[in-house]
Amino acid sequence: MSVKVISRVAWGAKPWNGDPKSKGPDTVPLTSRTEWFVHYDGAHHISATGAAVPRAIDRQHQAKGWAGIGYSFVVDQDGTAYEGRGWSRVGAHCPGHNVSGLSVQIAVGGDQEPSEAALATARALYDEACKRTGRKLKMRGHRDGIATQCPGDILYAWVKAGMPATGYEAPAGGTAPADDDRPSVARYRVTIRGLEYGYGAHGTHVTEVGKALVRSGFGKHYKTGPGPDWTDADTECFSDFQVSLGFTGTAPGGDADGVPGETSLRRLLGTIPSKAAPKPPAFPGRGYFKPGADNAYVTQLGKQLVAKGYGRHYKQGPGPRWSEADRQAVEAFQRAQGWTGADADGFPGPETWRRLFA
Ligand SMILES: [Zn+2]
Repeated sequence: MSVKVISRVAWGAKPWNGDPKSKGPDTVPLTSRTEWFVHYDGAHHISATGAAVPRAIDRQHQAKGWAGIGYSFVVDQDGTAYEGRGWSRVGAHCPGHNVSGLSVQIAVGGDQEPSEAALATARALYDEACKRTGRKLKMRGHRDGIATQCPGDILYAWVKAGMPATGYEAPAGGTAPADDDRPSVARYRVTIRGLEYGYGAHGTHVTEVGKALVRSGFGKHYKTGPGPDWTDADTECFSDFQVSLGFTGTAPGGDADGVPGETSLRRLLGTIPSKAAPKPPAFPGRGYFKPGADNAYVTQLGKQLVAKGYGRHYKQGPGPRWSEADRQAVEAFQRAQGWTGADADGFPGPETWRRLFA
């Protein structure tokens, strides 16, 4: 199957670097190409098809400070192929593989099933790439090049299966799947003391790691940031830091793959951060919980009792007006603490409150 590619001009690409006079990214001879990378769009399902798909990626990649869309090609769910960097320009899709690797982004996200049409077009692009380079390009998912979730489990399994496509026949004498038995990389993200690190992690602790890398002189891969979303730039910088500690193995799964471990985190930050337990709300006072009381603390108490499994006393609510149901639910909770007598009278004191919200 031959494949028609919608040109940059036809789908409305922005000028390279936003500058009509820009010559654009460097060119790479086809003889330098040895790999073919498959990507997806990220965590979220996407419903768009048509020129809107490459245009959105083009905008995102220029916002990162890149010349423009970083993939060689993009294929939407209708099976239409769009030119990105094309056959001849250096990519911006996987650190360390942008010269050796051509790439296609299949525009699905998360656990979204790619369409047969999209897979057939992506496969045809691969065959065309093999024809043009005169060699069997290695089939790779983004996660084979760097510790990332991309291209998602579905597309990664497809790559490992040799990129089969329904209704598609490989050209005679052509391009059987490369025999590439590298293991799947599960270690693109880790949880250490309740906090996540690695591709897809999010939070102020991610920003703190990035800032510490910059302070330590390992910030050269950041075009923007560091920020609270862990990106490939964080992985690259952290990998450099791990190498400086004497760790080896920068490929995914290696000790210097840019996914933090306890040792490297401690060396970088001087400590290993842990997720802080949320503070329980302050006890407002006994006066808010008695017959006739009508306030938001009663609702808060009732909802927490339900959340802790003491909801069976409520025929309705819980709500702001203190009721016998509230008292019975509190009493049941107090008795479950092993308390008796006045300690289990169904009216919350500071210790009941603390334990309930602990
Ligand atoms: Zn990717």
